[in-house]
Amino acid sequence: MGGIEPTTQGTQDTQDTVKQRLLEKDRKHLWHHMSVHSDDPMIFVSGEGCWLTDIDGNRYFDAMSGLWCVNIGHGRKEMAAAAAKQMELLAYVPLSHSHVPAIELASKISGWLGGEYRIFFSNSGSDANEVAFKIARQYYDQIGQPNRYKFISRHRAYHGNSMGALGATGQAQRKFKYEPLGTGFQHVPPPYCYRCPFGKSTDSCRMECAGIYDQVIQWEGPETVAGLIVEPVITGGGMIVPPPGYLKKVKEICDKHGVLLIVDEVICGFGRSGEKFGHCNYGVGPDIVTMAKGLTSAYAPLSATAVRADLYDSFRERSGTDHFRHVNTFGGNPLSCAVALKNMEILEDEKLIQASGELGRRLSERLLGLSAHRTVGDIRTFGFAAGIELVEDKETKRPASAENVAKVIESCKQRGLLIGKNGDTVPGYANVLTLAPPFVTTPEEVDWMASTLEIALNTLPAGDE
Ligand code: PLP
Repeated sequence: MGGIEPTTQGTQDTQDTVKQRLLEKDRKHLWHHMSVHSDDPMIFVSGEGCWLTDIDGNRYFDAMSGLWCVNIGHGRKEMAAAAAKQMELLAYVPLSHSHVPAIELASKISGWLGGEYRIFFSNSGSDANEVAFKIARQYYDQIGQPNRYKFISRHRAYHGNSMGALGATGQAQRKFKYEPLGTGFQHVPPPYCYRCPFGKSTDSCRMECAGIYDQVIQWEGPETVAGLIVEPVITGGGMIVPPPGYLKKVKEICDKHGVLLIVDEVICGFGRSGEKFGHCNYGVGPDIVTMAKGLTSAYAPLSATAVRADLYDSFRERSGTDHFRHVNTFGGNPLSCAVALKNMEILEDEKLIQASGELGRRLSERLLGLSAHRTVGDIRTFGFAAGIELVEDKETKRPASAENVAKVIESCKQRGLLIGKNGDTVPGYANVLTLAPPFVTTPEEVDWMASTLEIALNTLPAGDE
């Protein structure tokens, strides 16, 4: 293990002391992300493949790949070597100049997208979406349609933490106390077949969830709408998988009204869906694609906004302000680009995208065995990611209580399995367990995850039906 090692070869006593000291500092100084204060956080010290080791030496299977991101698994020495080599060679130049890893990476991403795209690098998924919104507005301004400033996204979707990306986000719980956010964001209902917002069943469905965009664009005035932003499936908002043909219909509606389709591939990209990008499953060519997490498998911070090359033409200088007047210091730094290139090389050499698809199919089959369980309302999968929607009552679909969801998560943890749940999108609806394991998971580990989940579900009191 490299880096800062919290334990020594010393006695258990010494290790306990080290842990206590760290916990004291944590309680005093560390502001944890997205959580109510915890006096007893898990402190991890190392990772290998799918497994994390905490400060007490306990091992846990990381079934969420961190936050849907460590796709190639933990502890890759090739990644560390690529990072070290690049740091020794060139630490930094701003991207007003150029450097080799950025050039190679931009070209590689464009190749993976299968079209001609220009790539703008930033640091996070939120940044990548902000850039997409700014580029879309500026593009329309510069082609003589300056009134197109609005974006349409979906309720339950998450697009990031910054004022614009949070404006696009459709999760009330994440927004209140921070509003007003970036303006010009409208929301439509999600393609949520299990709880169809249009009251339809599979038989009566006319894909109203896609058609609604047409309506909303007309109501808003097509000349005011710049873009739509969608994830191929809504991931963090509850693994909401649209009906087949949805994205294609959405793209047709965009084209009809001259609206740009922005596809947020922050989670679905780089193999999570079993394809290079999530939208590849639907035969749609987006105008703008945003990506982060799986781009480096979280070994270094990096995101990208890929823009159709012909849109870039309007940013070639005609007046003094036609270029994209946006900079971020660290975006596309040599270290992160070198790490991303190595990550993509590993995905290719080890055929991990194919593996993700195969593991996903096995996971779907194994989870199917849980569908009769009294607490399981719906199971939704996309590539190697799954959502298990828990209910208290299968008839009424009353969502499982936060307490029962927490019990299942804790019970899995006790058995060495770390799973996730959807963000608290609507009060009372944080009831979707999520899985998005690294692509180096073994088939046996897939089976173990499903059986561990079943044991955990069985610990819920039967009276909750
Ligand atoms: N878009 C999606 C779909 C995400 O899931 C996330 C983060 O979870 C983001 C954007 C924002 O990414 P970041 O946390 O890197 O800013």
